[in-house]
Amino acid sequence: MSAPTRSRPTRSRFDVDREQLGEVLAGEPRYRIDQVWQGLYEQLRSPAELTTLPKALRTRLDQELPLALEQEVRRISDQGDTVKYLWRLHDGHRIETVLMMYPDRVTVCVSSQAGCAMDCGFCATGQAGFQRHLTSGEIVEQVARAAREARDLGRRLGNVVFMGMGEPLANEAAVWAAIERIHDDLGLSARHLTVSTIGIVPGIRSLAARPLPVNLAVSLHAANDDTRSTLVPMNKRYPISMLMEACADYLAVKGRRISFEWALIEGVNDRDSDAHELAALCRRFRLAAHVNLIPLNPTPGWPTVGSSPRRVREFRDLLERLGVNATVRRNRGTDIDAACGQLAAGQPVRSQPIAIRARGTSGSPR
Ligand code: SAH
Repeated sequence: MSAPTRSRPTRSRFDVDREQLGEVLAGEPRYRIDQVWQGLYEQLRSPAELTTLPKALRTRLDQELPLALEQEVRRISDQGDTVKYLWRLHDGHRIETVLMMYPDRVTVCVSSQAGCAMDCGFCATGQAGFQRHLTSGEIVEQVARAAREARDLGRRLGNVVFMGMGEPLANEAAVWAAIERIHDDLGLSARHLTVSTIGIVPGIRSLAARPLPVNLAVSLHAANDDTRSTLVPMNKRYPISMLMEACADYLAVKGRRISFEWALIEGVNDRDSDAHELAALCRRFRLAAHVNLIPLNPTPGWPTVGSSPRRVREFRDLLERLGVNATVRRNRGTDIDAACGQLAAGQPVRSQPIAIRARGTSGSPR
């Protein structure tokens, strides 16, 4: 093999499949492939830590299968129960990952793109714009490293949510390849993997055609096209009726409950009329629809404020009375900008936000 080079790696550790690993291990006994694969995915170790391998091989593998994510910052919150990682990619772009430890489960929130092109004004990632898609290896590595950290703390990572930076269904092929690796090799159950989308209808349809029954979460935020198009520009391309058809079809194929995410914004989507509209949309799904409420988190580029805790509870109670399953999501990591919609990876965000106005109200948003 050639001498170690300083040039940028083309294949990172978790981008390599078994066959490619076989190429890297050419000349070694065949069983080395399993040994290394298990080391990476079951033991969550780096090649340097695989003491069953000869020392020279360990060193070579560490060089030829480099990590894709260089840890730049690691911040903790919630007494250590929330960890946010800021990673630097080989080309200088940055992404974030959030590890959340609950009493009964451990969840990692992963990024699928550096930045995001969806341009939702209330989301810090959207405010900073799109840089590039992540490779499947860059996605898998976020999970593997979080799993390792959890294990070192005596916990088992069991859940992955694609709710970090980026729109996973705009990068569906890489996301799917990552899901397969997370399922087949890291051993997580498909039922514990959740893809969250702004509502890219062709992406939902591709996901429906894939074999594993992963959960679908849809960032709905408004139940009429006028409001939703202001909050989520992609709604103009895939309006609510089309989106609901795709959700119904996903449900029919997968039999998995669908979550609707709803960031409550004062005076914009938290009125009684909004709850009624949302309940009407959910009716066709009966108990298979679940609404996740979360008060809007502050971001630098958005003027409106999240609903008060009291209003959030009232909104939930009204939904429940209207027959809709709804829960309020506990906010994690707001103090370290690790909460929903706050991941900007240190990117400057647009300073001139597009102001939106609630329908039927006058006056400017705060
Ligand atoms: N692009 C995908 C994956 C990101 S998930 C998607 O939008 O679903 C991130 C979630 O946080 C989405 O539901 C998003 O709408 C929500 N979000 C964005 N900004 C937020 C904010 N400021 N406060 C609360 N939730 C926010």
